[in-house]
Amino acid sequence: MARDEQLQRWTEPTVRRGALIPGAGAEPHGSSATVAKRVKGGYRVSGTKHYATNASLAEWLWIGRVTSDAHSKPIMFMLHRDTPGLTIDSSVWRPTGMRACISPWLYLQDCFVPEENLLGSPGQFLDENWMGKINFAFTANYLGSARAIYDWALNYVRERRSGNDSYRQLRFGELKSVLDASRLTLYTAVRMFKKDPDSAMVAAHEAKWMAKEALNKLMWSAAEVCGSTALFQSHPLERFYRDMHLHMMHGRHDVAAQIVGAAELGEPFDVNRTH
Ligand SMILES: Cc1cc2nc3c(=O)[nH]c(=O)nc-3n(C[C@H](O)[C@H](O)[C@H](O)COP(=O)(O)OP(=O)(O)OC[C@H]3O[C@@H](n4cnc5c(N)ncnc54)[C@H](O)[C@@H]3O)c2cc1C
Repeated sequence: MARDEQLQRWTEPTVRRGALIPGAGAEPHGSSATVAKRVKGGYRVSGTKHYATNASLAEWLWIGRVTSDAHSKPIMFMLHRDTPGLTIDSSVWRPTGMRACISPWLYLQDCFVPEENLLGSPGQFLDENWMGKINFAFTANYLGSARAIYDWALNYVRERRSGNDSYRQLRFGELKSVLDASRLTLYTAVRMFKKDPDSAMVAAHEAKWMAKEALNKLMWSAAEVCGSTALFQSHPLERFYRDMHLHMMHGRHDVAAQIVGAAELGEPFDVNRTH
């Protein structure tokens, strides 16, 4: 969506200094929506974004889902971290897991955004189905994490020579099947985007919901099959358990299943629904 000149400007800190580019779209319930007012040469923007993952390590921040008085569809733009009126608040980040991956709150108070920092055209993000495509990042992440837990548990049971127990064999059989089915659902959805993007948007939600279910089952069953000692801090399962519990709360899972269900029932649905 970015023009060549924009791409170079915004990725330069990443290429040269390893700065990260966070994506801040979500807003806390109850806060006023982020709004951009048209002014000479750009926009004045105010609002709150929460969970801006890695914003503390950014020079440029992607700000999405912004209503403006100049366009009927939402706009998005890049905001430099030194913009007057921007506060990046990392102090809120005291979660149960994912402590090393900080997701600050952003407070924008009358921040000036010059015209040249607008990204794409109004509404482009939703019109090009990026909400559905973004699902794949979470889906792959959940599946990779589930696979890591599975591999660790398998090794743990093998090393303790307790794999001859038929209940453990049953559990690993279940988990392997869930993992494989979930991965296939993801691959099928990815392939669909090329030939049937409307159905792919529904399939993307199915894949994400399925991966979250797989991860949930993996977390629970891995601890069950390995035993309580596996949840001691000396083992990575303890950290996986905390990190993934938070990570899988990223939201829209109920929305995902509702979209799939509505499609099945021939009822109307909104693939860009946030809550
Ligand atoms: C680790 C992590 C990193 C994140 N990183 C980013 C990021 O980089 N950028 C970004 O934009 N966002 C990010 N998010 C934010 C995410 O998109 C959500 O906005 C956030 O998780 C919502 O949290 P909340 O506490 O406000 O929950 P809410 O949105 O208040 O609640 C969501 C829960 O309420 C349930 N619910 C909703 N409505 C109903 C109802 N009517 N009845 C019953 N239940 C209902 C849902 O099923 C869901 O489980 C991140 C979230 C997490 C956890």
